[in-house]
Amino acid sequence: MAKKVSRAKQREALAAAAAAVQVPERCDVVVVGGGAAGLVAAVCAAEAGASVVVFERELECGRKILATGNGRCNFAHENLDAGRYNDPQFVRGVCGPADAWLADVLAFWRGCGMAWVSDSGRLYPMSLQAASVRNLLLARARRAGVVLACGREAASLGELPRAAATVIACGGGAELVGGLGLEARPFSPVLCPVAARPVDAGFDLAAVDGRRARAHAALLRGGREVFAEDGEVLFRSWGLSGIVMFDFSRRVEAGDVIRLDLTCGMGAEKLAGLVPEGVLDPQVARALGKDALARAAALDFRVEGLAETNKAQVKRGGLLASQFDPATLGACERPGLFACGEALDVDADCGGFNLAWAWKSGIVAGSAAAEYALLARKDKN
Ligand SMILES: Cc1cc2nc3c(=O)[nH]c(=O)nc-3n(C[C@H](O)[C@H](O)[C@H](O)COP(=O)(O)OP(=O)(O)OC[C@H]3O[C@@H](n4cnc5c(N)ncnc54)[C@H](O)[C@@H]3O)c2cc1C
Repeated sequence: MAKKVSRAKQREALAAAAAAVQVPERCDVVVVGGGAAGLVAAVCAAEAGASVVVFERELECGRKILATGNGRCNFAHENLDAGRYNDPQFVRGVCGPADAWLADVLAFWRGCGMAWVSDSGRLYPMSLQAASVRNLLLARARRAGVVLACGREAASLGELPRAAATVIACGGGAELVGGLGLEARPFSPVLCPVAARPVDAGFDLAAVDGRRARAHAALLRGGREVFAEDGEVLFRSWGLSGIVMFDFSRRVEAGDVIRLDLTCGMGAEKLAGLVPEGVLDPQVARALGKDALARAAALDFRVEGLAETNKAQVKRGGLLASQFDPATLGACERPGLFACGEALDVDADCGGFNLAWAWKSGIVAGSAAAEYALLARKDKN
Protein backbone atom coordinates (compact mmCIF):
# COMPACT_ATOMS: atom_id res chain seq x y z
CA MET A 1 0.00 0.00 0.00
CA ALA A 2 1.30 3.48 -0.91
CA LYS A 3 2.48 5.41 2.15
CA LYS A 4 0.52 8.59 2.91
CA VAL A 5 2.73 11.69 3.07
CA SER A 6 1.78 14.10 5.88
CA ARG A 7 0.77 17.67 5.06
CA ALA A 8 3.82 19.00 6.88
CA LYS A 9 6.11 16.79 4.79
CA GLN A 10 4.33 17.84 1.58
CA ARG A 11 4.81 21.52 2.52
CA GLU A 12 8.44 20.89 3.31
CA ALA A 13 8.98 19.28 -0.09
CA LEU A 14 7.16 22.13 -1.87
CA ALA A 15 9.20 24.74 0.04
CA ALA A 16 12.44 22.98 -0.89
CA ALA A 17 11.40 22.73 -4.56
CA ALA A 18 10.39 26.41 -4.60
CA ALA A 19 13.66 27.52 -2.99
CA ALA A 20 15.65 25.52 -5.55
CA VAL A 21 14.18 27.47 -8.48
CA GLN A 22 16.69 29.95 -9.90
CA VAL A 23 14.89 33.17 -10.77
CA PRO A 24 16.58 35.00 -13.65
CA GLU A 25 17.31 38.71 -13.14
CA ARG A 26 15.67 39.58 -16.44
CA CYS A 27 13.17 38.01 -18.81
CA ASP A 28 10.79 39.10 -21.56
CA VAL A 29 7.55 38.69 -19.62
CA VAL A 30 6.93 38.48 -15.90
CA VAL A 31 3.53 37.25 -14.72
CA VAL A 32 2.41 38.13 -11.19
CA GLY A 33 0.17 35.31 -9.94
CA GLY A 34 0.29 31.66 -10.95
CA GLY A 35 -3.45 31.01 -10.83
CA ALA A 36 -5.78 30.08 -13.68
CA ALA A 37 -5.33 33.29 -15.71
CA GLY A 38 -1.63 33.77 -14.97
CA LEU A 39 -0.65 30.22 -15.94
CA VAL A 40 -2.49 30.44 -19.26
CA ALA A 41 -0.93 33.87 -19.93
CA ALA A 42 2.51 32.43 -19.16
CA VAL A 43 1.97 29.43 -21.47
CA CYS A 44 0.80 31.65 -24.35
CA ALA A 45 3.69 34.10 -23.89
CA ALA A 46 6.29 31.33 -23.71
CA GLU A 47 4.85 29.43 -26.68
CA ALA A 48 5.08 32.70 -28.66
CA GLY A 49 8.84 32.72 -28.02
CA ALA A 50 9.18 34.92 -24.90
CA SER A 51 11.18 34.01 -21.82
CA VAL A 52 8.66 33.98 -18.95
CA VAL A 53 8.81 34.00 -15.15
CA VAL A 54 5.68 33.50 -13.01
CA PHE A 55 5.82 34.98 -9.50
CA GLU A 56 3.46 33.07 -7.20
CA ARG A 57 3.14 33.73 -3.47
CA GLU A 58 1.91 30.22 -2.62
CA LEU A 59 4.32 27.29 -2.58
CA GLU A 60 2.65 25.86 -5.68
CA CYS A 61 0.81 27.32 -8.65
CA GLY A 62 -2.88 26.84 -9.40
CA ARG A 63 -3.96 25.72 -5.92
CA LYS A 64 -7.37 27.37 -6.24
CA ILE A 65 -8.12 25.40 -9.42
CA LEU A 66 -8.10 22.23 -7.28
CA ALA A 67 -11.10 23.50 -5.27
CA THR A 68 -13.20 24.57 -8.24
CA GLY A 69 -16.48 22.87 -9.13
CA ASN A 70 -16.40 20.88 -5.87
CA GLY A 71 -13.12 19.33 -6.95
CA ARG A 72 -14.38 18.60 -10.48
CA CYS A 73 -13.60 22.02 -12.06
CA ASN A 74 -16.45 23.41 -14.10
CA PHE A 75 -13.91 24.96 -16.48
CA ALA A 76 -16.26 26.58 -19.06
CA HIS A 77 -19.84 26.69 -20.32
CA GLU A 78 -21.19 25.68 -23.71
CA ASN A 79 -22.97 29.02 -24.00
CA LEU A 80 -20.50 31.77 -23.09
CA ASP A 81 -23.15 34.46 -22.93
CA ALA A 82 -21.50 37.82 -22.14
CA GLY A 83 -24.77 38.79 -20.42
CA ARG A 84 -23.73 36.56 -17.51
CA TYR A 85 -20.89 39.02 -16.71
CA ASN A 86 -20.98 42.40 -14.92
CA ASP A 87 -19.48 44.20 -17.95
CA PRO A 88 -20.80 42.44 -21.09
CA GLN A 89 -19.43 45.03 -23.50
CA PHE A 90 -15.84 44.78 -22.24
CA VAL A 91 -16.03 40.98 -22.01
CA ARG A 92 -17.32 40.80 -25.61
CA GLY A 93 -14.52 43.17 -26.70
CA VAL A 94 -11.87 40.93 -25.15
CA CYS A 95 -13.35 37.49 -25.86
CA GLY A 96 -15.24 38.04 -29.11
CA PRO A 97 -18.46 36.21 -30.06
CA ALA A 98 -19.47 33.33 -27.76
CA ASP A 99 -18.73 30.56 -30.30
CA ALA A 100 -15.24 31.84 -31.14
CA TRP A 101 -14.47 32.37 -27.45
CA LEU A 102 -15.53 28.80 -26.59
CA ALA A 103 -13.54 27.46 -29.54
CA ASP A 104 -10.40 29.27 -28.30
CA VAL A 105 -10.81 27.94 -24.76
CA LEU A 106 -11.45 24.38 -25.95
CA ALA A 107 -8.53 24.53 -28.41
CA PHE A 108 -6.28 25.55 -25.52
CA TRP A 109 -7.43 22.58 -23.44
CA ARG A 110 -7.27 20.19 -26.38
CA GLY A 111 -3.69 21.44 -26.78
CA CYS A 112 -3.05 20.39 -23.18
CA GLY A 113 -4.30 16.90 -24.11
CA MET A 114 -7.59 17.16 -22.22
CA ALA A 115 -11.03 15.82 -23.15
CA TRP A 116 -14.21 17.15 -21.54
CA VAL A 117 -17.84 16.34 -20.83
CA SER A 118 -20.95 18.51 -20.59
CA ASP A 119 -23.46 18.45 -17.77
CA SER A 120 -26.43 20.64 -18.82
CA GLY A 121 -24.04 22.98 -20.65
CA ARG A 122 -21.45 23.11 -17.87
CA LEU A 123 -18.13 21.73 -19.05
CA TYR A 124 -15.91 19.51 -16.90
CA PRO A 125 -12.69 17.61 -17.62
CA MET A 126 -13.56 14.06 -18.69
CA SER A 127 -11.70 12.76 -15.63
CA LEU A 128 -14.09 14.85 -13.46
CA GLN A 129 -11.00 15.84 -11.50
CA ALA A 130 -9.91 19.45 -11.04
CA ALA A 131 -6.40 18.08 -10.46
CA SER A 132 -6.30 17.06 -14.15
CA VAL A 133 -6.89 20.67 -15.20
CA ARG A 134 -4.26 22.06 -12.84
CA ASN A 135 -1.66 19.39 -13.60
CA LEU A 136 -2.07 19.61 -17.39
CA LEU A 137 -1.67 23.38 -17.20
CA LEU A 138 1.49 23.11 -15.10
CA ALA A 139 2.91 20.44 -17.42
CA ARG A 140 2.31 22.63 -20.47
CA ALA A 141 3.90 25.64 -18.73
CA ARG A 142 6.99 23.59 -17.87
CA ARG A 143 7.22 22.20 -21.42
CA ALA A 144 7.10 25.76 -22.75
CA GLY A 145 10.03 26.70 -20.49
CA VAL A 146 8.12 28.93 -18.05
CA VAL A 147 10.01 29.51 -14.78
CA LEU A 148 7.54 28.97 -11.92
CA ALA A 149 8.91 31.03 -9.04
CA CYS A 150 6.66 29.87 -6.19
CA GLY A 151 6.72 31.03 -2.57
CA ARG A 152 7.52 34.54 -3.79
CA GLU A 153 5.06 37.33 -3.08
CA ALA A 154 5.47 40.51 -5.09
CA ALA A 155 4.54 43.49 -2.90
CA SER A 156 5.36 45.92 -5.71
CA LEU A 157 6.40 45.81 -9.36
CA GLY A 158 9.89 46.96 -8.31
CA GLU A 159 10.57 43.55 -6.72
CA LEU A 160 10.11 41.62 -9.94
CA PRO A 161 12.79 40.52 -12.42
CA ARG A 162 13.42 43.20 -15.05
CA ALA A 163 11.06 42.50 -17.93
CA ALA A 164 9.78 44.35 -20.98
CA ALA A 165 6.22 43.29 -20.19
CA THR A 166 4.40 42.55 -16.94
CA VAL A 167 1.11 40.68 -16.67
CA ILE A 168 -0.94 41.31 -13.54
CA ALA A 169 -2.77 38.06 -12.79
CA CYS A 170 -2.90 38.12 -9.01
CA GLY A 171 -6.63 37.51 -8.77
CA GLY A 172 -9.37 39.06 -6.67
CA GLY A 173 -8.53 40.78 -3.44
CA ALA A 174 -4.79 40.99 -4.10
CA GLU A 175 -3.24 44.02 -2.38
CA LEU A 176 -0.85 44.60 -5.28
CA VAL A 177 -3.77 45.67 -7.48
CA GLY A 178 -4.37 48.75 -5.27
CA GLY A 179 -0.73 49.82 -5.49
CA LEU A 180 -0.32 49.94 -9.27
CA GLY A 181 -1.29 53.59 -9.68
CA LEU A 182 -4.32 52.56 -11.73
CA GLU A 183 -7.95 53.02 -10.77
CA ALA A 184 -9.45 50.00 -9.04
CA ARG A 185 -12.87 49.26 -7.58
CA PRO A 186 -12.62 47.93 -4.00
CA PHE A 187 -12.95 44.15 -3.83
CA SER A 188 -16.08 42.57 -2.32
CA PRO A 189 -17.10 38.91 -2.16
CA VAL A 190 -19.77 37.44 -4.48
CA LEU A 191 -20.94 33.91 -5.35
CA CYS A 192 -21.84 33.01 -1.79
CA PRO A 193 -25.09 32.32 0.16
CA VAL A 194 -27.65 35.01 0.95
CA ALA A 195 -28.65 35.89 4.54
CA ALA A 196 -32.45 36.20 4.55
CA ARG A 197 -35.48 35.81 6.84
CA PRO A 198 -38.87 34.35 5.85
CA VAL A 199 -41.47 37.10 5.44
CA ASP A 200 -44.07 34.65 6.80
CA ALA A 201 -42.98 34.25 10.43
CA GLY A 202 -44.80 30.91 10.49
CA PHE A 203 -42.12 29.30 8.29
CA ASP A 204 -39.18 28.28 10.48
CA LEU A 205 -35.93 28.10 8.51
CA ALA A 206 -34.21 26.25 11.35
CA ALA A 207 -36.68 23.38 10.81
CA VAL A 208 -35.46 22.90 7.22
CA ASP A 209 -31.76 23.65 7.72
CA GLY A 210 -29.77 21.59 5.19
CA ARG A 211 -32.79 20.58 3.06
CA ARG A 212 -32.69 21.15 -0.72
CA ALA A 213 -35.50 22.00 -3.13
CA ARG A 214 -35.90 22.67 -6.82
CA ALA A 215 -37.36 26.13 -7.27
CA HIS A 216 -38.14 28.96 -9.59
CA ALA A 217 -36.52 31.89 -7.75
CA ALA A 218 -37.31 35.54 -8.42
CA LEU A 219 -35.60 38.65 -7.03
CA LEU A 220 -38.06 41.45 -6.29
CA ARG A 221 -37.06 45.06 -5.65
CA GLY A 222 -39.83 47.52 -4.81
CA GLY A 223 -42.30 44.82 -5.91
CA ARG A 224 -40.71 44.54 -9.40
CA GLU A 225 -38.91 41.41 -10.61
CA VAL A 226 -35.27 42.27 -11.41
CA PHE A 227 -33.85 38.75 -11.89
CA ALA A 228 -35.07 35.15 -11.96
CA GLU A 229 -33.45 31.73 -12.24
CA ASP A 230 -34.48 28.08 -11.92
CA GLY A 231 -32.45 25.52 -10.00
CA GLU A 232 -31.67 24.00 -6.64
CA VAL A 233 -31.94 26.01 -3.43
CA LEU A 234 -30.46 24.91 -0.12
CA PHE A 235 -32.26 26.10 3.03
CA ARG A 236 -30.04 27.22 5.90
CA SER A 237 -31.17 28.37 9.35
CA TRP A 238 -29.87 31.87 8.49
CA GLY A 239 -30.95 32.11 4.86
CA LEU A 240 -30.61 30.51 1.44
CA SER A 241 -27.73 28.82 -0.37
CA GLY A 242 -27.14 26.69 -3.48
CA ILE A 243 -25.99 27.67 -6.97
CA VAL A 244 -29.10 29.75 -7.71
CA MET A 245 -28.51 31.81 -4.58
CA PHE A 246 -24.81 32.19 -5.45
CA ASP A 247 -25.97 33.87 -8.67
CA PHE A 248 -28.45 35.97 -6.65
CA SER A 249 -25.55 37.09 -4.40
CA ARG A 250 -24.21 39.13 -7.37
CA ARG A 251 -27.48 41.08 -7.53
CA VAL A 252 -29.17 41.30 -4.09
CA GLU A 253 -29.45 44.38 -1.91
CA ALA A 254 -30.58 44.41 1.72
CA GLY A 255 -34.36 44.80 1.79
CA ASP A 256 -34.96 42.94 -1.51
CA VAL A 257 -37.41 40.03 -1.52
CA ILE A 258 -36.52 36.58 -2.86
CA ARG A 259 -39.66 34.71 -3.91
CA LEU A 260 -39.33 30.94 -4.23
CA ASP A 261 -41.85 28.89 -6.14
CA LEU A 262 -41.16 25.37 -4.90
CA THR A 263 -43.78 24.00 -7.29
CA CYS A 264 -41.71 25.36 -10.21
CA GLY A 265 -44.72 27.01 -11.87
CA MET A 266 -46.93 23.89 -11.97
CA GLY A 267 -50.04 26.01 -11.37
CA ALA A 268 -53.34 25.09 -9.72
CA GLU A 269 -54.45 22.77 -12.53
CA LYS A 270 -51.38 20.53 -12.44
CA LEU A 271 -51.29 20.62 -8.63
CA ALA A 272 -54.92 19.50 -8.32
CA GLY A 273 -55.12 16.12 -6.55
CA LEU A 274 -51.46 16.16 -5.48
CA VAL A 275 -50.41 16.08 -1.84
CA PRO A 276 -47.58 18.18 -0.32
CA GLU A 277 -45.26 15.20 0.22
CA GLY A 278 -45.77 14.16 -3.38
CA VAL A 279 -44.30 17.43 -4.58
CA LEU A 280 -42.06 18.76 -1.81
CA ASP A 281 -39.30 17.47 0.45
CA PRO A 282 -41.27 15.96 3.40
CA GLN A 283 -39.45 18.12 5.94
CA VAL A 284 -40.16 21.28 3.92
CA ALA A 285 -43.80 20.20 3.51
CA ARG A 286 -44.10 19.76 7.29
CA ALA A 287 -42.51 23.17 7.96
CA LEU A 288 -45.00 24.80 5.58
CA GLY A 289 -47.92 23.27 7.50
CA LYS A 290 -51.49 23.97 6.40
CA ASP A 291 -52.01 24.75 2.70
CA ALA A 292 -48.40 23.72 2.08
CA LEU A 293 -48.68 23.55 -1.72
CA ALA A 294 -50.32 26.97 -2.03
CA ARG A 295 -47.71 28.52 0.29
CA ALA A 296 -44.87 26.73 -1.51
CA ALA A 297 -45.80 28.49 -4.76
CA ALA A 298 -44.85 31.92 -3.37
CA LEU A 299 -42.52 31.68 -0.39
CA ASP A 300 -40.99 35.10 0.34
CA PHE A 301 -37.71 35.90 2.10
CA ARG A 302 -36.42 39.37 3.03
CA VAL A 303 -32.72 39.78 2.14
CA GLU A 304 -30.44 40.93 4.97
CA GLY A 305 -27.11 40.68 3.15
CA LEU A 306 -24.56 38.05 2.11
CA ALA A 307 -23.46 35.07 4.21
CA GLU A 308 -20.32 32.92 4.50
CA THR A 309 -18.41 35.58 2.56
CA ASN A 310 -15.10 34.08 3.68
CA LYS A 311 -15.88 31.15 1.37
CA ALA A 312 -17.12 33.28 -1.57
CA GLN A 313 -15.96 31.92 -4.93
CA VAL A 314 -15.17 35.26 -6.51
CA LYS A 315 -14.16 38.79 -5.51
CA ARG A 316 -15.96 41.50 -7.41
CA GLY A 317 -13.87 44.63 -8.05
CA GLY A 318 -10.32 45.19 -9.24
CA LEU A 319 -8.70 47.19 -12.01
CA LEU A 320 -11.28 49.23 -13.91
CA ALA A 321 -11.75 47.75 -17.37
CA SER A 322 -11.98 51.18 -19.01
CA GLN A 323 -8.20 51.61 -18.51
CA PHE A 324 -7.41 48.58 -20.70
CA ASP A 325 -7.44 47.99 -24.45
CA PRO A 326 -9.82 45.02 -24.97
CA ALA A 327 -7.78 43.82 -27.96
CA THR A 328 -4.59 43.28 -25.90
CA LEU A 329 -5.57 43.79 -22.25
CA GLY A 330 -2.70 46.28 -22.13
CA ALA A 331 -3.09 49.32 -19.85
CA CYS A 332 -3.75 52.29 -22.16
CA GLU A 333 -1.55 54.69 -20.14
CA ARG A 334 1.12 52.18 -19.07
CA PRO A 335 2.80 50.55 -22.08
CA GLY A 336 4.09 47.09 -21.21
CA LEU A 337 1.59 46.51 -18.39
CA PHE A 338 -1.12 43.90 -19.01
CA ALA A 339 -3.81 42.34 -16.78
CA CYS A 340 -6.09 39.31 -16.86
CA GLY A 341 -8.48 37.23 -14.78
CA GLU A 342 -10.07 38.37 -11.57
CA ALA A 343 -7.52 41.18 -11.05
CA LEU A 344 -9.68 43.06 -13.58
CA ASP A 345 -13.13 44.23 -12.55
CA VAL A 346 -14.92 41.33 -14.24
CA ASP A 347 -17.10 38.74 -12.50
CA ALA A 348 -19.80 36.34 -13.62
CA ASP A 349 -22.43 33.84 -12.55
CA CYS A 350 -21.68 30.25 -11.58
CA GLY A 351 -21.46 27.71 -14.39
CA GLY A 352 -17.88 27.92 -15.67
CA PHE A 353 -18.10 31.59 -16.68
CA ASN A 354 -15.43 32.85 -14.28
CA LEU A 355 -12.84 30.30 -15.39
CA ALA A 356 -13.77 30.84 -19.05
CA TRP A 357 -12.89 34.51 -18.48
CA ALA A 358 -9.65 33.58 -16.70
CA TRP A 359 -8.52 31.32 -19.58
CA LYS A 360 -9.47 33.65 -22.43
CA SER A 361 -8.21 36.85 -20.79
CA GLY A 362 -4.99 34.95 -20.01
CA ILE A 363 -4.65 33.98 -23.68
CA VAL A 364 -5.20 37.59 -24.81
CA ALA A 365 -2.90 39.23 -22.22
CA GLY A 366 -0.15 36.59 -22.47
CA SER A 367 -0.03 36.66 -26.28
CA ALA A 368 -0.02 40.47 -26.40
CA ALA A 369 2.62 40.74 -23.66
CA ALA A 370 4.88 38.40 -25.63
CA GLU A 371 4.37 40.39 -28.81
CA TYR A 372 5.20 43.61 -26.98
CA ALA A 373 8.30 42.16 -25.30
CA LEU A 374 9.64 40.49 -28.45
CA LEU A 375 9.28 43.75 -30.38
CA ALA A 376 11.13 45.58 -27.59
CA ARG A 377 13.88 42.93 -27.74
CA LYS A 378 14.13 43.33 -31.55
CA ASP A 379 14.32 47.14 -31.27
CA LYS A 380 17.22 46.81 -28.81
CA ASN A 381 19.23 44.45 -31.05
C1 LIG B 1 -14.19 27.22 -3.99
C2 LIG B 1 -14.21 27.83 -5.37
C3 LIG B 1 -14.82 27.14 -6.40
C4 LIG B 1 -14.86 27.71 -7.68
N1 LIG B 1 -15.42 26.98 -8.69
C5 LIG B 1 -15.45 27.50 -9.95
C6 LIG B 1 -15.94 26.74 -11.04
O1 LIG B 1 -16.26 25.54 -10.90
N2 LIG B 1 -16.02 27.34 -12.26
C7 LIG B 1 -15.60 28.63 -12.47
O2 LIG B 1 -15.71 29.13 -13.60
N3 LIG B 1 -15.07 29.35 -11.47
C8 LIG B 1 -14.96 28.82 -10.22
N4 LIG B 1 -14.40 29.55 -9.21
C9 LIG B 1 -13.84 30.88 -9.53
C10 LIG B 1 -12.44 30.72 -10.17
O3 LIG B 1 -11.65 29.87 -9.37
C11 LIG B 1 -11.75 32.08 -10.32
O4 LIG B 1 -12.57 32.90 -11.13
C12 LIG B 1 -10.38 31.94 -10.98
O5 LIG B 1 -9.54 31.12 -10.20
C13 LIG B 1 -9.72 33.31 -11.15
O6 LIG B 1 -8.45 33.10 -11.71
P1 LIG B 1 -7.28 34.16 -11.50
O7 LIG B 1 -6.06 33.51 -12.06
O8 LIG B 1 -7.69 35.47 -11.98
O9 LIG B 1 -7.12 34.30 -9.92
P2 LIG B 1 -6.61 33.22 -8.88
O10 LIG B 1 -7.00 31.86 -9.28
O11 LIG B 1 -7.06 33.72 -7.55
O12 LIG B 1 -5.02 33.32 -8.98
C14 LIG B 1 -4.30 34.42 -8.52
C15 LIG B 1 -2.95 33.93 -8.03
O13 LIG B 1 -2.12 35.06 -7.72
C16 LIG B 1 -1.42 34.79 -6.53
N5 LIG B 1 -1.04 36.09 -5.95
C17 LIG B 1 -1.86 37.04 -5.45
N6 LIG B 1 -1.15 38.13 -5.06
C18 LIG B 1 0.15 37.86 -5.35
C19 LIG B 1 1.35 38.60 -5.20
N7 LIG B 1 1.38 39.83 -4.68
N8 LIG B 1 2.53 38.03 -5.60
C20 LIG B 1 2.53 36.77 -6.14
N9 LIG B 1 1.40 36.04 -6.30
C21 LIG B 1 0.23 36.56 -5.91
C22 LIG B 1 -2.38 33.98 -5.70
O14 LIG B 1 -1.72 33.22 -4.71
C23 LIG B 1 -3.04 33.11 -6.77
O15 LIG B 1 -2.38 31.88 -6.97
C24 LIG B 1 -14.32 29.00 -7.93
C25 LIG B 1 -13.68 29.68 -6.88
C26 LIG B 1 -13.63 29.10 -5.62
C27 LIG B 1 -12.93 29.85 -4.49
